[in-house]
Amino acid sequence: MSNQPPHPALLIPGPIEFDDAVLQAMSHYSESHVGAPFVNTFGETLSMLRRLFQTTDPASQPFVISGSGTLGWDQVAANLVEPGDEALVLHTGYFADSFADCFETYGVKATQLKAPIGGRPQLDEVETALREKQYQVLTVTHVDTSTGVLSELKALSELVHRVSPDTLVVVDGVCSVGCEEIKFDDWGLDVVLTASQKAIGCPAGLSILMVSGRAIERFKARRTRPTSYFGSWKNWLPIMQNYEAKKASYFATPSPQLIHALHTALTQILSRPLEQRFADHRAASQKIKKAVAELGLKQLAAKPENQANGMTAVYLPEGVQAPQILPSLIKKGVIFAGGLHKEIATKYIRFGHMGVSVTDPNREDIDRALGALRAGLSEIGYKV
Ligand SMILES: *Cc1c(COP(=O)(O)O)cnc(C)c1O
Repeated sequence: MSNQPPHPALLIPGPIEFDDAVLQAMSHYSESHVGAPFVNTFGETLSMLRRLFQTTDPASQPFVISGSGTLGWDQVAANLVEPGDEALVLHTGYFADSFADCFETYGVKATQLKAPIGGRPQLDEVETALREKQYQVLTVTHVDTSTGVLSELKALSELVHRVSPDTLVVVDGVCSVGCEEIKFDDWGLDVVLTASQKAIGCPAGLSILMVSGRAIERFKARRTRPTSYFGSWKNWLPIMQNYEAKKASYFATPSPQLIHALHTALTQILSRPLEQRFADHRAASQKIKKAVAELGLKQLAAKPENQANGMTAVYLPEGVQAPQILPSLIKKGVIFAGGLHKEIATKYIRFGHMGVSVTDPNREDIDRALGALRAGLSEIGYKV
């Protein structure tokens, strides 16, 4: 169990519950960000990320920069495309709207390919879109946190490589890296961007990316300079390469304490086979989805193949709104999130099941959450 002060289990789709050791890593004494001990920790952290993303290609490049997941969108829009370029954004919920808005902020044209709520764009639709126009990048949200929809990356990436080989495949993995299988090299991905606070289980504050050698070449061949200063890979690429080679260098001060926490979280994750971690998440997810169905509730993602393994988005019974039930769940010791998809926000709730809540056998978060949901619904008169 955890030695943290008693608190309701945080079961939203990030931030998630943290392991004690990860939190303790943050109370590290102050270090110079260019001193050998910290440079060593940062270098090891970058090398561990290669294993988490399952890439052994030396041309792949990890980045860890202070910021949240959103900074990953800015990095893609500022470094991999140029004003006037075209991006095809596959839409499975709220986060695609935001990624598209980010592209537009940098003068990049974003075309969204949308699916009905709970679905995802089909491969033949993607193929048609790719044949209509030359897109410099295609983006896909691996798990859309607003809907709990999982996208299929392998077949999608194969399609892009076949139909439009110059289009870079960019994955928003903020809610999937650490709980869903991702094979960066085997699947031919160009960017997977994520954040520290979701399935990786480290406090918020780090933007984490894996970038392919092909994408780095694309960046180097830009005609115009990157359209961000803080987020520019011109500034960060040499820093990341130096840190991994255990050489001190400076562009902007990183957060040594957060890097220590990430180092601890990654050490824990990689201490077991990744397949086991993904299997644990699938098993917990199946149990939750079964319990939800037994309560007579429906998921936003209706088809099993569209359902994420690290979260579940559940429609409330007809007439019940999220603000009626969430406070009573907190009293029962669990925090769920309300809806995020703007058309249906009050009609559903989101249950995050990632990280230690799933992998630590001494925690009872999941059973407590299912019990609370059952009791909370019956209190408001829903017959379960
Ligand atoms: C949470 C999330 C983001 C945004 O990350 P922040 O850390 O909140 O900036 C982006 N995409 C997806 C899929 C997310 O779940």
